[in-house]
Order: sequence, then structure tokens, then C-alpha cells
Amino acid sequence: MDIHEYQAKEILSRFNVEVPKGALAYSPEQAAYRTHELGGDKWIVKAQVHAGGRGKAGGVKLCQSQDEVYDACNDMFGRKLVTHQTGPQGKGIYRVYVESAVQIDHEIYLGFVLDRSSQRVMIVASTEGGMEIEEISADRPESIVRSTVEPAVGLQEFQAREIAFNLGIEPGLVQHMVRTLQGCYRAFLEFDATMVEINPLVVTGDNRVVALDAKMSFDDNALFRHPQISELRDKSQEDPRESRAADRGLSYVGLDGNIGCIVNGAGLAMATMDTIKLAGGAPANFLDIGGGASPERVAKAFRLVLSDDNVQAVLVNIFAGINRCDWVAEGVVLALKSLQLDIPVVVRLAGTNVEEGQKILAKSGLPIIRATSLMEAAERAVGAWQNDLVQATKMRAAL
Ligand code: ADP
Ligand code: MG
Repeated sequence: MDIHEYQAKEILSRFNVEVPKGALAYSPEQAAYRTHELGGDKWIVKAQVHAGGRGKAGGVKLCQSQDEVYDACNDMFGRKLVTHQTGPQGKGIYRVYVESAVQIDHEIYLGFVLDRSSQRVMIVASTEGGMEIEEISADRPESIVRSTVEPAVGLQEFQAREIAFNLGIEPGLVQHMVRTLQGCYRAFLEFDATMVEINPLVVTGDNRVVALDAKMSFDDNALFRHPQISELRDKSQEDPRESRAADRGLSYVGLDGNIGCIVNGAGLAMATMDTIKLAGGAPANFLDIGGGASPERVAKAFRLVLSDDNVQAVLVNIFAGINRCDWVAEGVVLALKSLQLDIPVVVRLAGTNVEEGQKILAKSGLPIIRATSLMEAAERAVGAWQNDLVQATKMRAAL
């Protein structure tokens, strides 16, 4: 789960990370009023969306008067901000953060990520702050400092100092940098984060180390033990298809193609998507029904996949171990009987109770296309979808 910049800053500041003074606003009027509370004469207005790259997309503006703050917000509110991280559909701006402008001497990149190969939290830092880490590793790989933290002892002062030296932090600021690094590490651990990124962390003209941006992501599987983090969830920033599925305890990933996929297990989902591509199609999504799915759960999954307008054919691919093919078949029949479906549905079942499953599908009298192998299933789904497209085009031409 992701949170907003202002929320991440609030958390990090509790762990001794210095952030500029700032305040949240839900309207241009409120934003203008916030300038009084903050004082000073230069403010940065920042669109709160779950994506980076806002600066380049017009989501971060420097303002020098209350009127400018009002106008900047007036432009932002209700608009979709499209950055290179949001996809073409963009993300809605419903909250704006007004922050005191800080005089920047230089910018640093700082990230904390889970490094799966060393099974440690890895600190990634660079003197090239402000750029995305992908750009830094392409253009200035030599500027990147990496350091993994030994979990038994945590981030030690000497290690944090070494990072600070490698970043060329001047001696008088090293202690401040150590405090920042240790604070981020403690926040990461305390809340089961999967990522903390401060880009840029800046050294200010008056010699302070301040986080000007902050991003945090959390492990969904650990959210149950951090209710104060779950509360920060903002559904306006999520793919509505994915949040509907999450609310129903199903895991769903939205994509851009036309074939809806219902599968069990993430590995099978990957294989199914690859095979659809190989057969010349593109997946619209995949929905993982998990293990031991009841007919009701399968039917629910079906409705969810179909609620996506892009879906023009459905492929159900189940390799039943813990699952039961007869239950899956019942679920498919249950869903198809309750929905007016006018798109092709291909079902491939294998594993536990496959014969019973096939019988249920055959006896249902529904126009379900059956397949035995994954390749056959993908070819049939893509073929049926293309055929439907040809028919639809012919019908439109005839009208
Ligand atoms: P994003 O990464 O989404 O583009 P940032 O919060 O990093 O958004 O802001 C973009 C740039 O704006 C920063 O790299 C920094 O140069 C400048 N900036 C952001 N906040 C402030 C601030 N409070 N004071 C001065 N400059 C800022
Ligand atoms: Mg940034």
C-alpha cells in the first residue's frame, strides 16, 4: 500500500527526519489560508497523488503570494495529473500540500528498499538528487552508494557515517545525516515498510539536512498489525478495479488488453498471460482465486473480471491441487447463469476432480468453450475474441 507525501513526511518527522513546515488543504481557499499559518513569503504547492514525477508534470509549483497559491490550487484541484508513473489515465488531485519553500544548496537521492538477494534492507543513495533512480543508474551509476543493513544490529552509527562520507556530506552535517538515516531505517522497520524514498533530501543554504519529498510503501500482508497505517489508505488513488477486488479478499491486477483471466496462483497467472501473448492476444487483467475457492468465490471473481469494460473474452485457467475443478465449474455456471453474457468464455481445468468439473460444464447447456491444454485454451480465447471482433465490425459495417 502506498501513502501520500504529506503522510510519509508526518511519519518520518516522528523519527527525527527534518521536513519543511507544511499544511494540507482540500480547497484553494484553504490552501491560501494555510500560508498565514505557515508564515514566510515563498511556498511550494504540491499535488498529493500516489506517483512521483509531479514536478515535471505541473504538480509542484513555487508561489510567492497568497493569490498565486490560490491560482495554482485552482488549476490543480479535480484535475487528473499525468506523470510518467501514473499511466495515461493519470491520478486525481483531491488534496494539496502547501509547504514553506526551502533554499536548496544541493540535492541527494536516498532510498531504503528490500533487497531480495541479500535478504536485507538496502540503503541506496546518490549525490544526484532530484533525478529518478532509474535515470541515475543509467547516467551516473558511479554516483550510487549502496549499503545493506545487518538486521541483528540495525543501522549502526559508523555505517551511517560511512554513507554520509561517501555522499560528500561536510563534517558539520554528518551527525544530522546519521540521524536522518537512522530515523528512516527505524520507520521502515517499525511499520513493515517495503520502501522509503526521499528524493530529494537536501542540504539547505543554512546548513540543515531536510527531506523535501517522501514516499513510503507498506507490506499489505502486515497491515493488519498497523491500523494507523491502514487508515491512511486513499482509494481515490487506486485502480478502482483493484480496490473492488481487495475489498472482497481477491487479488486482482488490472492490465491494458482485452482478455480477462481467472486463475489460481500467481505463477499460473504469469504463465497464462505469457501464453495469451504467445497466441497473439493481450490480457485485460488477472484475478487469482487462491486455493480452496468455493463456487460462490469463483462466481464473485467472474463478476469482478466482467465489470471491466475492456474485457471482451474470458479465460478461466485452473490447475487444481487444493482447489476442486467441480467447485470451480459450479462457480462458472453460477456466474454465467446470473449474468447476461455476450462474450466468449473459455475454461481449461486440470487436476483434482477434473472429470466432475467437465461434466458440470457440459451439462449446463451454456456456450462454454472447453480446452485441455493451456496453449489450446489461450488460442481458443484469442481466436474467439478475434472472431467476435470480426463479427462486430461486420455488423457495424452493415448498419
Ligand atoms: P516529484 O518527485 O513528484 O517531482 P518533489 O517533491 O520531489 O516532487 O518536488 C520536485 C522538486 O521541487 C524537488 O526536486 C525540489 O527541487 C523542489 N521542491 C519540492 N519541495 C520543495 C520545498 N519545500 N522547497 C523548495 N523546493 C522544493
Ligand atoms: Mg521527488
